[in-house]
Amino acid sequence: MVQPSDIPKVIQEAQQRLDLIFERLSVCPDTKQRLSVPHRMVEAAIPVRMDDGSLQVFRGWRVQFDLTRGPGKGGIRFHPSVNRDEVTALSFWMAIKCAVVDLPYGGAKGGVRVDPKKLSLLELERLSRGYMRAMADVIGPEVDIPGPDMNTDERIMGWMSDEYDTLIRQRRPAVITGKPVAMGGSRGRTSATGEGAAQVLQIWTEQQNQQPEDLNIAIQGIGNAGYYFARAAKRLGFNVVAVSDSSGAVYSADGLDVDAIYEHKRKHRELKGVSAKKGGEVSSLSNSELLALDVDILALAALENQITQDNAGNVRAKWLLEIANGPVAADADSILLDNDIVVIPDVLANTGGVIVSYFEWLQNRSADYWTSEQVTERMQEVIRTQSQQCFELAEKEQLDLRSAAYMQGIRRIAESMDARGTQSDFKNK
Ligand code: GLU
Repeated sequence: MVQPSDIPKVIQEAQQRLDLIFERLSVCPDTKQRLSVPHRMVEAAIPVRMDDGSLQVFRGWRVQFDLTRGPGKGGIRFHPSVNRDEVTALSFWMAIKCAVVDLPYGGAKGGVRVDPKKLSLLELERLSRGYMRAMADVIGPEVDIPGPDMNTDERIMGWMSDEYDTLIRQRRPAVITGKPVAMGGSRGRTSATGEGAAQVLQIWTEQQNQQPEDLNIAIQGIGNAGYYFARAAKRLGFNVVAVSDSSGAVYSADGLDVDAIYEHKRKHRELKGVSAKKGGEVSSLSNSELLALDVDILALAALENQITQDNAGNVRAKWLLEIANGPVAADADSILLDNDIVVIPDVLANTGGVIVSYFEWLQNRSADYWTSEQVTERMQEVIRTQSQQCFELAEKEQLDLRSAAYMQGIRRIAESMDARGTQSDFKNK
């Protein structure tokens, strides 16, 4: 029997956001109990020989939260603040997220506590391969399939895939997604999270009978997801007026040249000193000024917990789009709701990445590779169907979009748990 003290604190907090949904769905208590403790957690030491000959031991985690709907799925992040609780919470949200868009996966997540900026390329490769060696026993194409996340890219996924193949002495590309196309990666995976977020926003905009041309956007975070989102949003007609990174933000009421900004960032590793504009003036802002801009849409593509009860009252945007995982803290929910600010939640808004990861897994398993057009078309189909279902559910149940998305996901997980067990036989007795 699960005791309250067995439930990790991060999951207790996550479940507070879900309590209403469990009640509304009258989900069997078994489901709630099953979703309160992770299925499996692996904590490993990853020794890496550094370029100067010294040895450094890194800490790494892989948490498989729930595998009811299929093998685990979720990224691996490299960040100095990664810890077991964060990886656990993120693995829980992956289980919900995969169910929200109806992918045949459970939820998992991995991480290494490291500042990758401090490593040389060869040290980064040794660490990535070391992570795979540490976790190889608990992953596999039918068990748990990692993918990219914060600070991990296709090169790192490629090294990990190569290491796995070396360990098992076979080619098994479906063990990991987000690989380079030359190693069995899917076309469109790099841009997928940003592209998908722009699609979700477009569908919501249509639903609200608004035109993208009348809406302007500020984006917190111009990393991979933020940049591809900015590019796609501009293509769809939205006006991107502000972007930021950890060094500061730039704003131009006439719209920004996001390609020039991204190029500057790639070269100088920060936005500072950027002068990209389409005409008119570009002004510099602080990160907190960007979050409080009077824009239609604030897209959050940086880290967790950026909007909290301390700054939620300053937000003037009408809609918040969560491209990062967990950028709005739970304590900010009621403030945003009271101010009529619509939050398009991460578990729907950033699913483009994991959807194309799923396509990559399908392609690897069938050895039949798709064109960019096929990837885009199928991603749009999944995002349109699942977003519309979520928006309709919100309308029907009179719920905010986050609660509606959770309802969509939890309902599917509960159905699979029911189908695999016997709890429904006892319900009517
Ligand atoms: N890291 C991405 C996410 O949080 C996707 C991971 C994957 O492709 O497996 O959704």
